[in-house]
Amino acid sequence: MTSWTTADSAALYGLDRWGEPYFSVNGRGHISVQPQGERGGSLDLLELVQGLQGRNLGLPLLIRFDDILEDRLERLHAAFERAIAQYGYGGRYQGVFPVKCNQQRHVVEELVACGRRWHFGLEAGSKAELLIALSLIDDPEALLICNGYKDQRYIETAILARRLGRQPVVVIEQADEVQRIIDASRALGAAPFIGIRAKLSSRSSGRWGSSVGDKAKFGLSIPDLLATVEALRDADLLQDLRLLHFHVGSQINDIAVLKDALQEAGQIYVELTKLGAPMGYLDVGGGLGVDYDGSRTASAASTNYSLQNYANDVVATVRECCEPHGVPVPTLVSESGRAIASHFSVLVFNVLGSAQVPAALPAAGESEPLTVRNLRETLAGITATGSDDDGAVSRLQEAWNDAIKFKDDALAAFRLGYLSLPERAMAEQLTWACASAIVERLPRSGAVPDDLKSLRAALAGTYYANLSVFRSAPDTWAIEQLFPLLPIHRLEEEPTRLGHFADLTCDSDGKLARFIGDGQAKPLLELHAPQEGQPYLIGMFLGGAYQEVMGNLHNLFGSTNAVHIRLAPGGGYQVDHVVRGNTNAQVLEAMEHQPELLLERLRVASEAAIQRGDLKINDAQRLMDHLETSLRQTTYLQG
Ligand SMILES: *Cc1c(COP(=O)(O)O)cnc(C)c1O
Repeated sequence: MTSWTTADSAALYGLDRWGEPYFSVNGRGHISVQPQGERGGSLDLLELVQGLQGRNLGLPLLIRFDDILEDRLERLHAAFERAIAQYGYGGRYQGVFPVKCNQQRHVVEELVACGRRWHFGLEAGSKAELLIALSLIDDPEALLICNGYKDQRYIETAILARRLGRQPVVVIEQADEVQRIIDASRALGAAPFIGIRAKLSSRSSGRWGSSVGDKAKFGLSIPDLLATVEALRDADLLQDLRLLHFHVGSQINDIAVLKDALQEAGQIYVELTKLGAPMGYLDVGGGLGVDYDGSRTASAASTNYSLQNYANDVVATVRECCEPHGVPVPTLVSESGRAIASHFSVLVFNVLGSAQVPAALPAAGESEPLTVRNLRETLAGITATGSDDDGAVSRLQEAWNDAIKFKDDALAAFRLGYLSLPERAMAEQLTWACASAIVERLPRSGAVPDDLKSLRAALAGTYYANLSVFRSAPDTWAIEQLFPLLPIHRLEEEPTRLGHFADLTCDSDGKLARFIGDGQAKPLLELHAPQEGQPYLIGMFLGGAYQEVMGNLHNLFGSTNAVHIRLAPGGGYQVDHVVRGNTNAQVLEAMEHQPELLLERLRVASEAAIQRGDLKINDAQRLMDHLETSLRQTTYLQG
């Protein structure tokens, strides 16, 4: 027996790699959250969940740590401030949050409030997002970047909002938007601040690589960009052209991609000033990545650079482009979404049960058929093998070949009617017992044939998770996104099983079966054997960006309960906001059903059943009670 420690768990689940500085394991084997990084106190995640359950907030539960959100903002600004000082950059950094990353009211409000000291702004990509941004940003120095396709009303709204003391920058994404801006400016006798999104030719890589290049959906090609400048000049609007924007795509994995894009954009910026545009802002878009698997590599779930590397490259490259031409360096803008919003929310869900291969071994019957007896003997041979015996691995391999052969014989015999159902069950259980016995005896190191290695996976269990992947982790399904997943307690105990999670939906895709591993994603996660009557709680981390809005109502599972937590000044925590998850009534209404009408139909049906004598009155009442209560409750299973 090895003595397992919490440090072993931290290493196994990669906490030291992706969890820094917010998540670690404490001495009690629970996940500890340090919402302010090294600077502040810590919270025991299990205790926090229990405290919230005591407030009638059932699982699954989305916990948003607003201190982490603030800390991310601070780190981003600190990184740019350091880079600006280091490279003697004569300009500033002024970021915006792309609202599409997480539009939740409390999240955007929190970011605007925390970001005020840096005049942090917002980026909108649609009219609804513009409405959020316009109403929340009241700092005249904060930027409000208007991206996305724009019609006349969108543009006029942005122009008029300048009179409210806001600073909307209308970014031209499509060649035909120029004319709309010109028309709107004439109609209103005022112009917006104008930006241009350039379609860069720089190569990219990764999942969102197609956001750049000649065929990109957004941005102006260089000929279009030149034509736009001339059209603005003719309309007497060139003095309002202030910003150049580009976006390489989300989750830039490889810093080399960013450097190329920055050089190209830097030169375009210089050229635009030479053409007579006042400029002043260079917006490097989003793409600042998150190291989901902690590998610090250019793989899809990681980045080969740090936040500081990113800031250094932006600052240094832009300076290198401008200085030789005597062009004043611009204010640097970034639209970092994922990098700001990923870390702050943790989804905690409970395991409802697990399906394992049958463990108990039935006793030998009176007169067992030959195939069953053969399997029993094979098992006895395996159990007699010590893992240190000479040639153990090859003996185990031979035994497994036998077991497979005998199991196939048993199946054939069953098909031909020579084996009864209980005898077939016996044969299957004996085969599983052989597999378990072999796995127990395999050496931890040294060469093991693939055949035997895969037995461990074949014995893995399915853990039933009280959540919907489609609602809470849609990117795991849609784009094979990896999020760190691990138990939030029992980390002082060795996880002796392997498993994956199946969700509540009736969809075979509704599962979590890719986990962060050493270098490569793995299909199974080390987990503990569930304990009768004890909760087993799993946390999904780094999912604060994009998941909530991309999540859908598959099988009518709605939003989960969510809470906003802050460290309290005197220690402990305070619950700032509670956002109740969708009720069953709400998800029904989303599909145009009328819950009252559904109930009424069932009331009529149960009345008829009472008349027929098929249903007792108190059973009818119980049924209606269940239905009415369910309508008021969340869509998930109650603990
Ligand atoms: C999506 C998007 C962003 C945010 O990207 P992240 O990778 O989350 O930082 C920024 N700018 C534009 C134009 C976008 O479309």
